[in-house]
Amino acid sequence: MYLHKELETMTRPEIEKLQLERLQKTVRHCMNSPFYKKRFEENNLKPEDIQTLDDLRKIPFTTKQDLRDTYPFGIASVPLEKATRLHSSSGTTGNPTVILHTQKDLDEWANAVARCLHMVGLRPTDVFQNSSGYGMFTGGLGFQYGAERLGMLTVPAAAGNTKRQIKFMTDFGTTAVHAIPSYAARIYEVMQELGVDPRRDTKLKTLIIGAEPHSEEQRRRIEEMLGVKAYNSFGMSEMCGPGVAFECTEQNGLHIWEDYYIVEIVNPETLEPVAEGEVGELVLTTINREAMPLLRYRTRDLTRVLPGECPCGRHHKRLDRMKGRSDDMIILKGVNIFPIQIETILLQFKELSTDYLITLETVDTNDEMTIEVELNDMFTDDYARLQSLTREITRQLKDEILVTPRIKLMPKGALPKSEGKAVRVKDLRKTY
Ligand code: ADP
Ligand code: ZN
Repeated sequence: MYLHKELETMTRPEIEKLQLERLQKTVRHCMNSPFYKKRFEENNLKPEDIQTLDDLRKIPFTTKQDLRDTYPFGIASVPLEKATRLHSSSGTTGNPTVILHTQKDLDEWANAVARCLHMVGLRPTDVFQNSSGYGMFTGGLGFQYGAERLGMLTVPAAAGNTKRQIKFMTDFGTTAVHAIPSYAARIYEVMQELGVDPRRDTKLKTLIIGAEPHSEEQRRRIEEMLGVKAYNSFGMSEMCGPGVAFECTEQNGLHIWEDYYIVEIVNPETLEPVAEGEVGELVLTTINREAMPLLRYRTRDLTRVLPGECPCGRHHKRLDRMKGRSDDMIILKGVNIFPIQIETILLQFKELSTDYLITLETVDTNDEMTIEVELNDMFTDDYARLQSLTREITRQLKDEILVTPRIKLMPKGALPKSEGKAVRVKDLRKTY
């Protein structure tokens, strides 16, 4: 059984002491990586130059492009025969990226995920069902090994086949499910079709939701629908996968495990650190990895470190709910908009479901935004009511995003559903 209580409850000085030791070790180890060896030489840097945690800033950033340029194995710090697994991103926008793991890396990853699951109250008596795709997507094997490490009965249901997914939940007495937030909403829809009442017919109590940006409103909806507590889980393949940062039972930010990662938040343009508590790009350094440590990796995810202490007593820093990736930002009529801002407004309307699609297109020479959003069950033919609802949604959105979108209310189930991460934005604009 897994328990690392002493690591979870370290004080700040203890965390920082361990971080410096692990950082220095990691940097020395990185000199086995052809990529980092060259980087250090080009910058006249030596591992001995890292004497304090602040010295980390002497090291250049590592980017997704660096991973692509060195595809597949050029950043690795171990010879290939030491690696026991690789994961790879989808590669839709160029060379895929590859992350290598040694057996020790996989063990440590399972420990991190187990720690997260334990933190939200899961125990070996729980039955954990994972609705992630298995294979290259790290949400599959990542949660599988973590849940097993904790000693739970683990059901690798994998993605899709929602009816079977629900049958497993009822038959096996599933108490905890890991699902992408958009898929959690889908599970509920299908339960309704099947006449399954999650409160009456299942033992569900915990949901782990993550892998895609979602609003607080979305979380509350999911909790209400399924009668569970839903905890936000953040991770990415480059940092192993799930298990990087996770909410505790306070649900007020995601503790990032600082015995595995050093956190920096930088201004994505100047690359300078932002002031404490400000939003910027999350930059992570892995300090507990063997096969492929990454130094100052620019994640492109935007968030901030929450000020203050968490009442749970853990001193590991807390990240705010992700605002999205810097590349998710929509620029429309010169205004910067994050899809999550739109979601936050939409879900305040109880008439609306959690499914929506933002389309950007050029009409004549103007760029316009259309938001299609599904109505809840209470779909009505009352034209006047739908019109006033549309007006109210438009008004509130305009206040938030400063441009006026066109709102299309759709009957439930009308929007396309995806089994993986939800597609929320379609950009069909012409570029002149
Ligand atoms: P891909 O890059 O193909 O989406 P990953 O599974 O590695 O593959 O995705 C990691 C990314 O998913 C993160 O960088 C982040 O943008 C997003 N993500 C993961 N967890 C969350 C979360 N809890 N909230 C918001 N975004 C998340
Ligand atoms: Zn906490």
